[in-house]
Amino acid sequence: MNKIFEDSEHAFAYKTNWELRKAYWLFKMMKFNWLISVGTGFILTAIKWRLPVLGLLKDTLYSQFVGGETLEKATPVVKKLADYEVDVILDYGAEAKEGEANFDLAKQEFIKAINYAASQKSIPFISLKITALARFELLEKINPHVSITPASISVDTSVLTAEENQEWQRVIDRTFAICEAAMTRNLGVLIDAEESWIQDTVDALVMLAMKSYNKKHVAVYNTIQLYRHDKLEFLKLSDEVAKQQSFLLGVKLVRGAYMEKERARAEATNTPSPIQPDKTATDNDFNKAVEFCLSKNEGIAVVVATHNEHSNMLAMDILAKQNNKYNHTFFSQLYGMSDNITFNLARNGYSVSKYLPYGSVADVIPYLLRRAQENSSVAGQTGRELFLLGKEMERRGLL
Ligand SMILES: Cc1cc2nc3c(=O)[nH]c(=O)nc-3n(C[C@H](O)[C@H](O)[C@H](O)COP(=O)(O)OP(=O)(O)OC[C@H]3O[C@@H](n4cnc5c(N)ncnc54)[C@H](O)[C@@H]3O)c2cc1C
Repeated sequence: MNKIFEDSEHAFAYKTNWELRKAYWLFKMMKFNWLISVGTGFILTAIKWRLPVLGLLKDTLYSQFVGGETLEKATPVVKKLADYEVDVILDYGAEAKEGEANFDLAKQEFIKAINYAASQKSIPFISLKITALARFELLEKINPHVSITPASISVDTSVLTAEENQEWQRVIDRTFAICEAAMTRNLGVLIDAEESWIQDTVDALVMLAMKSYNKKHVAVYNTIQLYRHDKLEFLKLSDEVAKQQSFLLGVKLVRGAYMEKERARAEATNTPSPIQPDKTATDNDFNKAVEFCLSKNEGIAVVVATHNEHSNMLAMDILAKQNNKYNHTFFSQLYGMSDNITFNLARNGYSVSKYLPYGSVADVIPYLLRRAQENSSVAGQTGRELFLLGKEMERRGLL
């Protein structure tokens, strides 16, 4: 582990002894793969049968990974992070609630989040999932009919019925309304990447939004998942498109969160997996993407969204060599994870944020289960968290 990220005192200064103990035990439990598998099944069944498990979730996973039930309730977390120069990416946590009325409500929530962010000094971004604004099957139907070249971004809607055409137009309208609100208030919207079988549609929509709103400053960011073997090329293509079509490019670089789901689907549909052959290939492409964006730092606004210490160090090294560490480059980690990276980057003057979900316990369950599964399947990550939490517990005389 690099020296800068070893400092557990600064990493956890914002946690009381009680909060530190709780985080330690939570990560200890998440180490047990079988417990997470059984626990996930139990939680989903209990919710279906309306058993009272939400209280249990609220005291455990929820309090570790979520800011609060509403924007107002998340405010103390935002302020506490700001005390340590850590910014926030606000994430309205209701995922994929189906139906046009819910999509409209979600649009209102995102605009509310933008207005709230504009009233705070430490919230430069909100995040947005297109599946919160659109029917999944519609995005999936459009997906094979997207074409992106340096000269054009096109979506062939002739395969859609008249009704679906109107539905698609409403998706565009909702997305653009949110991006316009962000542009007007000088904020950024980071649009999440999701499953590969809807991602071409999402990419086209985000590109069209960038073309409309990324004129003077970067209001819209796409997300590039480097666990896909075709996405480094797509990043380079995006740069070409931006140049030829005269808009500013914003990207958030991630490895990718749906690996098991992607592999299972490829197997079930007997199609080649879009995922890299192994972790090393993912790491290589992620780091090449960091190098590509940062070497063109005047041109591309980039959020380096990772808990990987090596990738964070690589970005820091490039920036240090260029002497422009404050310029268009942001670092980000999820709230509740890798505090050693976030707080130590902030202390060393980098622009760094926590991705902070908010929403009712019931609404954020899919997010919480993803975090639990990620922390049990990525053994290295849990090990790192536990090591640092344990180190700080010892330093405070709690172990
Ligand atoms: C601020 C922020 C925003 C995010 N937004 C999104 C988003 O919009 N969409 C999204 O999909 N994810 C998103 N993520 C999650 C992200 O994609 C990763 O799942 C997570 O951050 C773990 O990767 P890492 O780089 O932090 O760390 P690491 O621990 O170094 O990498 C773990 C990752 O490597 C990849 N990997 C692991 N094993 C293999 C293997 N055998 N073969 C190939 N690849 C492998 C997987 O992507 C895995 O998640 C976000 C993460 C952050 C911090």
